[in-house]
Amino acid sequence: MRKFILKFMTNPTEPSLPTRDLEKVLPSQANWLKLKVGRYFMSGRKRILVTGGAGFIGSQVADAFLKAGHEVAVVDNLSTGKREQVPAGAQFYLADIKSAETFDLIGRWRPQVLVHHAAQMSVRISVADPTLDARENILGSLNLFQAAAQVGLEKIIFASTGGAMYGDEAPVPAREEDRARPECPYGIAKLAVEHYLHFYQREHGIIPVRLRYANVYGPRQNGLGEAGVVAIFIEKFLAAEQPVINGDGLQTRDFVYVGDVVAANLAALDYPREGTFNIGTGQETDIRTVYLKLQELAGSAKDPVHGPAKPGEQRRSALDSARAREWLNWQPRVSLAEGLAHTVAAFRERQ
Ligand code: NAD
Repeated sequence: MRKFILKFMTNPTEPSLPTRDLEKVLPSQANWLKLKVGRYFMSGRKRILVTGGAGFIGSQVADAFLKAGHEVAVVDNLSTGKREQVPAGAQFYLADIKSAETFDLIGRWRPQVLVHHAAQMSVRISVADPTLDARENILGSLNLFQAAAQVGLEKIIFASTGGAMYGDEAPVPAREEDRARPECPYGIAKLAVEHYLHFYQREHGIIPVRLRYANVYGPRQNGLGEAGVVAIFIEKFLAAEQPVINGDGLQTRDFVYVGDVVAANLAALDYPREGTFNIGTGQETDIRTVYLKLQELAGSAKDPVHGPAKPGEQRRSALDSARAREWLNWQPRVSLAEGLAHTVAAFRERQ
């Protein structure tokens, strides 16, 4: 029965296809019926293992799964995460995703779904030490997937990147079918893991949902990530220090609020098929604009100061999320103004 359901749900009309093929299948009622039936089989209370569940995004995703009635365990080595961010209802395992301990834990705990957020997520570190990055982001992921394959796991939701996936040559906003040409080892590792997920689907029937996040910002954020600039600016403003804009500040990013990213994970859990989805707003915002908005929200009088541009920094970035809207019924709901206001308020509270 499980084999039949998996075959049914991994039918070739899945949305990893180029848009022109998608357009052919979207109007088909048969596809919507298949999605509905698939969702029925995927529904119910799940045992979900969240890696990186003490971190900025993972902790809020774990919390949302608990609130939706699922059983949740978290694996995190607390390298950047915080123990107090792990939601109270989740079982917590202080362990490294690369370790034999985590491998054995998956064998014992037997999750049905793996939601993989643990990562070395600094682009800068990945450039300085590609081997370290690959050890964490590729070998760490494979350790989890090998263990998952032995317990008949149903699905992996993978926190991939959109911001570091498409490179400078891609159209803006980028679509999933645009050529992935990551410029840094961090993006290369994420793309490699996306490909490995295809292997685990083919060999072990595990359904992969790859969520390519834009630049995620919000409460609990640290300065390391792809939207780290928001956290860095807020911390400086609140400490009455001078934030520095790298270069002219006209480089753009697609800033997506963490609450919207959590909603994408909930939708991905429900989604019965394999897929790759951009999770962004489609809107480009330049760093100078972010500075000025945060300056106002933080009530700071510090005018922008510019430092040298970062060599090799991507000039423009935004993601087209039409596919997620169509198939996951997901779209960003929180505007940048609203999201930044929430974020500044949350940082003030934790001061
Ligand atoms: P984060 O640093 O807050 O979270 C990562 C968590 O993983 C931390 O709690 C850390 O302690 C844990 N971790 C790291 N290495 C580990 C290991 N070897 N074993 C066990 N735990 C480990 O970062 P985040 O911003 O919440 O990112 C979560 C995921 O989303 C990452 O995979 C990241 O690549 C991806 N992502 C983030 C953004 C963004 O803008 N923040 C954008 C695209 C993708």
